[in-house]
Amino acid sequence: MKSQFTPRVLKIFQRRLLAWFGKHQRDLPWRASRDPYRIWVAEVMLQQTRIAAVRPYYQRFLRRFPRVDSLARAPQDEVLKLWSGLGYYSRARNLHRAAKEIVVHHGAKFPRDFEAALRLPGIGSYTAAAVLSIAYGVPLAVLDGNVARVLARLGAIRGDLRAPRRWQSLAVTAKQLLAAEAPGDWNQALMELGETVCLPQTPRCQACPVSGACRAYAQGAVDRIPSPRRKPATVQMKIAAAILLDPRGRTLLVQDPGAHDEVLFSRLWQFPALEVARAVRAELEKHLRATLQIEIPPLEPLAQSRHGVTFRNIQLLPFLARVPQLPRRPRTRIVPLSSLTRLPISSATRKLAQAALKTR
Ligand code: SF4
Repeated sequence: MKSQFTPRVLKIFQRRLLAWFGKHQRDLPWRASRDPYRIWVAEVMLQQTRIAAVRPYYQRFLRRFPRVDSLARAPQDEVLKLWSGLGYYSRARNLHRAAKEIVVHHGAKFPRDFEAALRLPGIGSYTAAAVLSIAYGVPLAVLDGNVARVLARLGAIRGDLRAPRRWQSLAVTAKQLLAAEAPGDWNQALMELGETVCLPQTPRCQACPVSGACRAYAQGAVDRIPSPRRKPATVQMKIAAAILLDPRGRTLLVQDPGAHDEVLFSRLWQFPALEVARAVRAELEKHLRATLQIEIPPLEPLAQSRHGVTFRNIQLLPFLARVPQLPRRPRTRIVPLSSLTRLPISSATRKLAQAALKTR
């Protein structure tokens, strides 16, 4: 990258990209304000989530929690409910915890200091750099997969970008390229370029404002950079779940910090469930006996469904169990099956509930 960007070329490059961003940036709700709280919420929601999916959640979330102190004061259940369907619930839990810390330790203002921001739950260097540069104009460069792809193409850097040494060298490049007088716009311009022009599969080089400085383009190597990442092999899993139903149409939910709860049920309210191998019904019965100490009625199989979480391909196997009375146990909750979706639940639990609702 060094020889490509002499100080004069770098200035031209920065000016061109910033001018393009000024003209072509999309109208996104989080760009309307420099409020660090609003930028932070957007950055957290956008982690591993598409912009189109985030928009309605973002607007609802900020209507309910317009300031960091309103978020800090809210009960966790309400925060999770507003997050319900967006996935990766640890983001919401961390956001909530961090809001409390900001109120207690930083006078309800997102800290300006990078190290202080990094100490907040759920905030890594990307999020800290994004919030501080956009909200406060702190000269920090962001680097995520999107920006890394753009930088790799500009410099024709081959190989796995996530390899630690390569990633570090991309971080150095990102710092060298940063337009220190407008770091927020610069970071957003690079992100915007990666999201709208320098696309992973089909980059639109003809529309690119910096194609003249792009080595991959000059070498005709755009489609080979970055090198494809080796994905982990898909793991097949079966999860059996029991939907206990009493004569009043109520069901039992548990909060069960066991295996796969974080992955599949996001530590939210869920049906009693476990990973099973072959003897599905027997394994589920044993689990119910052990955890709820109840006599197991006949388990009626319901429609199965598929659920994908990162590299896991999960077969959801719901069973309906009609019981005269639901057991009351610690960390359980009894709710009408038909109003389940009003609670903070994961999309896997939603699919299981729908299988049961169809039979009624
Ligand atoms: Fe990306 Fe093509 Fe622009 Fe290079 S010329 S930065 S590959 S869009």
